[in-house]
Amino acid sequence: MRLIKIKNSIVELPVGKIVCVGRNYAAHAKELGNEVPAFPLIFLKPASVLIHSGENIVYPDYSSEMHHEVELVLLIGKTIKDADDKTSEEAIAGYAVGLDMTLRDIQSELKKKGHPWTLAKVFDTSAAVSDFVSKNDYQIQGNEKISLTVNGELRQNSSLSYMIFSAPKIINYISSKMTLEKGDLIFTGTPAGVGSVSRGDKIVAQIENISTLTTSVV
Ligand code: MG
Repeated sequence: MRLIKIKNSIVELPVGKIVCVGRNYAAHAKELGNEVPAFPLIFLKPASVLIHSGENIVYPDYSSEMHHEVELVLLIGKTIKDADDKTSEEAIAGYAVGLDMTLRDIQSELKKKGHPWTLAKVFDTSAAVSDFVSKNDYQIQGNEKISLTVNGELRQNSSLSYMIFSAPKIINYISSKMTLEKGDLIFTGTPAGVGSVSRGDKIVAQIENISTLTTSVV
């Protein structure tokens, strides 16, 4: 069972499912040659792939193109289904910065065949999170800077204000398809600048005023 930590709290919450949004920044959709979607594109990762800041990302031997994707992560604090915008907002318990690690070579093959993305997105250590900041401690503004460096080199540098679907809109949509429960995490998509990492690389992901995540690729 994976647990997440909340800053200024002794609570350690078991993680439920991890719902991820694809193509939520127009510039990132464009860099991979994809259309900007009319609805959030969603896929799942199991909690068993989750690691925390300070732990290592293990590069799978069946891929030769693993990409970093820095993302805002939402922590769901209560069970909801078919939530309206207000309930969706109220269901957010906290925020973190996360990494949605992706095997881009595998994903390209799967996309060509029209197959699900599972093998490109789900592998041990493919999701990483920082500690969460409680919504009671920090009211998100929506224009915080989101960035990622590899070995000190700035690779992704954007603002949450460029998200196509806002956090409540994403929750509203997901909850129209499946129940969201306390402890579920939502990865809200990555800005432009995704790229390859190699074994030995050190990744630092950050969202202004929220948190910082540090990991190494092994
Ligand atoms: Mg992603």
